Amino acid sequence: MHKKLFIPGPVEVKPAVLEKMATPMIGHRSKDASQLQKRITGKLQEILYTKEAILLSTSSGSGLMEGAVRSCTLKRAAIFAAGAFGVRWYDMARSNNVPADLFEVEWGTAITPDMINEVLSTGKYDLITITHNETSTGLMNPLENIADVVKAYPDVVFCLDAVSSAGGSKIKVDEMGIDICITSTQKALGLPPGMALCTFSRKAIERAQEVPHRGYYLDLLSLYNYIQKKDHQYPSTPSLSHMFALDYQLDCILDEGLEERFARHVEMAEYTRQWAREHFALFADERYLSNTLTAVKNTRNIDIADLNRELGIRGYQISNGYGKLREKTFRIAHMADCTLEELKELIDNISDILKIKNYC
Ligand SMILES: *Cc1c(COP(=O)(O)O)cnc(C)c1O
Repeated sequence: MHKKLFIPGPVEVKPAVLEKMATPMIGHRSKDASQLQKRITGKLQEILYTKEAILLSTSSGSGLMEGAVRSCTLKRAAIFAAGAFGVRWYDMARSNNVPADLFEVEWGTAITPDMINEVLSTGKYDLITITHNETSTGLMNPLENIADVVKAYPDVVFCLDAVSSAGGSKIKVDEMGIDICITSTQKALGLPPGMALCTFSRKAIERAQEVPHRGYYLDLLSLYNYIQKKDHQYPSTPSLSHMFALDYQLDCILDEGLEERFARHVEMAEYTRQWAREHFALFADERYLSNTLTAVKNTRNIDIADLNRELGIRGYQISNGYGKLREKTFRIAHMADCTLEELKELIDNISDILKIKNYC
């Protein structure tokens, strides 16, 4: 039996999108492939509120995260982490020999604008990385306030990991001065895993032009240059299947309406939080809760793996805590095309299992 996914990626994908993945192939050097790339770009620019370039990468989101820090750091990268995904960016910098420093806050708390100001005011850094939505802790960093601070440093390239928020939460890329905003297909956009996408600003392009060793496959500048020179095509063969599905799903997202889509995510988040507060507690700081997933603190010390087994029998799957938060938290994702009704159905089942097991 298929288990309906309420995990923070891959998410449940609707059948119409899965069908688009099975579209017969076209040549990746054809006019049709160029048109496909162009259509996707236009729609992504709308969804991310940007006029800057859009790059697609046949990798998961981590590929573009690695590509961004390597392609655009000339001096030193300031890496901010509020959980596992922030730290991942630091590991990527280090393993690519990119000079970087890690600034980590306690899991469950947010990265503050003051902290960023203090670090950037040293003048040591020319690139900053921020995780918008920290999927390991269910926390959404205060992006607007952070962006206001970063704007005061025009030489700093602003990279944002929006992997688990873009398409589910409003990110005004140009207005906030984000130079590289990264996401992947299998989270709030609602597609199968296997492709990543990002915005790439003029400032980021100019920076990359100065960086001598940007790698090969994940060199953001070479992706950009190829798109310019070869009429919206890629240096190597992209996952055309994902592109067919993206072309379709981005239409669905725009048809739903961006404001409506973001409001649906807030509504689902509020419902989940309310349930979590009544039965358990929330893991993240109440002031910075994620709109796309909720991390529930396991205050009743229930056996989460067992809860998930029971849910599996009923056709649902949630996530255990990430890494060191395993069994200490569990995570319910409410993103992409998930509806409030589907979420209520899941939560009713969780409540029912908890009752049967005498947990609540
Ligand atoms: C899932 C996730 C990633 C990793 O993305 P992949 O597409 O699996 O490489 C990075 N950052 C955040 C915040 C995520 O949720």
